[in-house]
Amino acid sequence: MAEPRLTCAASTPPPVRPVLSEQPSRFMLLEREVERQYRPQMLETLQRKVNAAAEQTNAIAPVCPQCGQPMSYHDTRSVCWLACWGKVQALAARYRCRSCQQERRPLLDWLGVEPGRICGSLARLLALLAAVAPYELAARLAELLLGVRISAMGIWRAAQRLGEAAASYSDGLSRYHADSRGSGAPTEAAPSVVVLGVDGCSLGMQVRATRRRRRPNEALPPLPVIEEGHFREVKTGVLLLPSERVETSPGRRSVVRRFLVTCLGDADAIFASLYAQLRELGWVGAHTVVVIVGDGAEWIWNRASMFVRRCEILDFWHAVEHAWKFAQLRYGEGSAQADRWVHALAEDLRAGKVEQVVARLKRLRPATPELRESLQALIRYYSENAGRMRYDEYLRLGYGIGSGAVESAHKQMVHARFRQAGMRWSEAGARRLLALRLLLLNDNWALLDRLRMVSLA
Ligand SMILES: [Zn+2]
Repeated sequence: MAEPRLTCAASTPPPVRPVLSEQPSRFMLLEREVERQYRPQMLETLQRKVNAAAEQTNAIAPVCPQCGQPMSYHDTRSVCWLACWGKVQALAARYRCRSCQQERRPLLDWLGVEPGRICGSLARLLALLAAVAPYELAARLAELLLGVRISAMGIWRAAQRLGEAAASYSDGLSRYHADSRGSGAPTEAAPSVVVLGVDGCSLGMQVRATRRRRRPNEALPPLPVIEEGHFREVKTGVLLLPSERVETSPGRRSVVRRFLVTCLGDADAIFASLYAQLRELGWVGAHTVVVIVGDGAEWIWNRASMFVRRCEILDFWHAVEHAWKFAQLRYGEGSAQADRWVHALAEDLRAGKVEQVVARLKRLRPATPELRESLQALIRYYSENAGRMRYDEYLRLGYGIGSGAVESAHKQMVHARFRQAGMRWSEAGARRLLALRLLLLNDNWALLDRLRMVSLA
């Protein structure tokens, strides 16, 4: 059968097959040659330095971390681990405390490596790839960028071990700052105003098969059909200084710095993280006003009360959106009249005339029960939130009136990595990867250099 022809215009010459050059550029060949030549040499040099460290540390008996007594020499074994340029080997002495059953290998402690694992810079780089790309793709990137052949599972393991370290560290910070007995944080340079916002979405979680026990002579009932996995809420919080907002073009503002926090969990957890981050930054002093931008969800205002000096702002666009619902019902969907009505109302809201808007709404006499109900809901919403709708004032003070910065941060934090087609997460896996991604987006990746990889069973 003939191949289908897609184009066959007789008047034009047939397209010529694009040409590839015979080989990579000479320069690239030179680069690769040097790399091939020096990689083994770098590994050799590294190995020599490890051997020297072994000679120094193996002979020194460590003290037992439990009882403080010197530990006694047990044996010396050959161990190896994987680094950027290949496998590193070492003879590591093992010491034991007879009474506590504790065991130590001073060389490995000193180096901060775990036998049989990917260690050091390579582990950090693989975790970095996992923070930006799905594990399969990260494995391909590892080969292209680092010249390291590794399975998706290998990437996953490195990300889990470092992610656990990062997640424990940030959980520890939250607990530390939540406890009033902590020594606190520097507040001398605390800004007068900090803006805080929270956004969330749900994450598809893996459905865990539960094990069923069968009693003798009892048939198991059929398993229920699982239509959808369950979901967990993931939240992102943003902190920024309004004084650092710059106008990039007329009417368009962007922030120079912003700090994110994130968690797989409830409202209390995200506010504990926000508070810890504020304290870490030294951003909350006795006179700091905390501006909280919310979409109207009650849980945000409930938690916001933890800040004594605060200013609550209802996101302007959410406020306008509520008016749309009524306008479309009253004037018809997509009608020019609805459009005009909402725009006029939005302008009044922006000018801080929420009371006048509410008074005007109350004078309306809707014709149907459905309209009446919609109008009542709108009036109730604006009346309840009137104190959070002084938009003229917020604009004058430079606080901003929208939660756009929060929403975009949340998308970058979560959607870009966690919500791709078919992705399902385990609780631990999501928590660990969120912690890694947070370090990256907060420009704080170097912190990982100072965390020990967690050994996972
Ligand atoms: Zn001991």
